Amino acid sequence: MGKAPTTQWFRGASPRAALLCAMVLAVAAPLGGAMPYADAFLADAAGRNREGLTHLTFAPFGRVEQGWAVYEPLVAQEIGSRSDVGDPDFADHLAAWQRAHGLRPTGVMDDATFALMKTVWQARRPFAAASRRACPEPPPEASLAVVPAADSYGGKIMLLRPAALAAYTRMLAAARAEMPALRTDRRLMSLFSAYRSPDSDAARCVRDGNCQGIVRAACSSHRTGLTIDLYLGAAPGFPPDSSDDINRLYVSRGAAYRWMVGNAARFGFVPYAFEPWHWEWRGEPL
Ligand SMILES: [Zn+2]
Repeated sequence: MGKAPTTQWFRGASPRAALLCAMVLAVAAPLGGAMPYADAFLADAAGRNREGLTHLTFAPFGRVEQGWAVYEPLVAQEIGSRSDVGDPDFADHLAAWQRAHGLRPTGVMDDATFALMKTVWQARRPFAAASRRACPEPPPEASLAVVPAADSYGGKIMLLRPAALAAYTRMLAAARAEMPALRTDRRLMSLFSAYRSPDSDAARCVRDGNCQGIVRAACSSHRTGLTIDLYLGAAPGFPPDSSDDINRLYVSRGAAYRWMVGNAARFGFVPYAFEPWHWEWRGEPL
């Protein structure tokens, strides 16, 4: 997407700010060659986004992270930009999003903007809201459907609620039709985790010493039978669900994850931003 002739930020600005900008433009124009104010503003924001993409230090999920490149596909989708992070068009879309959400429209991704965006994403996960009140009860295991062996990443037997499995199957068919990468690697988009009983989660947490800060043991969304972990690739030497930043970045850069970010909502699936492989189906009450 090229540079917008009139910036979104400019369009969304308050009448006073718009008047000020118009005055600046009127003064700048006769100088000839001087960059219009809005263009200079967005070019500066673009430069800061390019830098922050790998250098912003923040802790959006409680653990210090360097840069927001892992989240770039979700951010781009959220603000409706198809441009590179370092492009003024990206900054323009981000500024419009900030303005629409009551933030100062700087066009620059920062801690506060990301925190609010994360809140917006979390609000789309019924499980996130419900589990704050009380951990949802798991469905009776007899009511769950078995994931076909061909869709199981490691061949393990997995269960899901029937309607969630049907939604996943429809999504997989669409992904195969729309994404060439899936034709060469049949494992992509297969499942490596689905329903997990609270008991097995607790046992696994103790056995593997991998309690994810008790989240897995205490209340994982996998107990709902509506949650899937998709194999979307893995960094060499890492299991597909490694939350090491190297693996999260690798997965987030893959074509399969990007397809999910752009298309999963069509099938009722919403992401958990911190784990690119983890998706939750919204089609049924918890
Ligand atoms: Zn998961």
